[in-house]
Amino acid sequence: MGYNVAVDGPAGAGKSTIAKLVAKEKGYIYVDTGAMYRGLAIHFLKKGINPDNKKAVADACRDAQVTIGYENGAQQIYLNGENVTAMLRTEEVGNMASKTSAIPEVRQKLLELQRSLAEEKDVIMDGRDIGTNILPEADVKIYLTASVETRAKRRFDELKAKGIECSLEEIARDIKERDERDMTREIAPLRRAEDAVLIDSSEMTITQVVEAICSYCR
Ligand code: C5P
Repeated sequence: MGYNVAVDGPAGAGKSTIAKLVAKEKGYIYVDTGAMYRGLAIHFLKKGINPDNKKAVADACRDAQVTIGYENGAQQIYLNGENVTAMLRTEEVGNMASKTSAIPEVRQKLLELQRSLAEEKDVIMDGRDIGTNILPEADVKIYLTASVETRAKRRFDELKAKGIECSLEEIARDIKERDERDMTREIAPLRRAEDAVLIDSSEMTITQVVEAICSYCR
């Protein structure tokens, strides 16, 4: 069994930025499970599937194979053998992932992949249900959050830096909707595990959050 650090929290809390830095500092492998849901979302988008049609989504899971690899230490997502990493981080893909991640067949499809990675290697894995469902025996569990305003502003700045036009209000609305969906779904909802350390990063720098998490890790 590898040494396992689970990081859960809502959209835009900074999980991936922080987890990547902790991975580097501690020599763990970083596993971004959101990217796996996004990889499957690309499959549904390619097939023109309506995310509200649960049966169509469940059926489409059968001919999708999501696998993971690493190039120069960076996680790559393959969908049926094609590297789709560059396509993962759009709002369209994020929304499709958020809607379809509530469907049991979608979660089941990715569960084994996530558990087997943690079994073999020392990992820091981020997502929504890692500490509660995927790795209930994780050595360290972190619940990383921040206020909606902070998360929306971070996302807004990130998109602006990439030259993408966007509205702060729209992003905040999108984040609230995503929180609501992730926290109220029937299967594996986002919640803090009882034994998870709560970190609210609203008033913290990236370095402070990384240091805080590292202090709990081996
Ligand atoms: O974290 P990220 O925004 O990349 O995740 C995309 C979507 O995948 C989330 O909105 C969430 O609904 C879903 N997800 C999940 N469980 C995880 C990781 C992501 O349901 N472990």
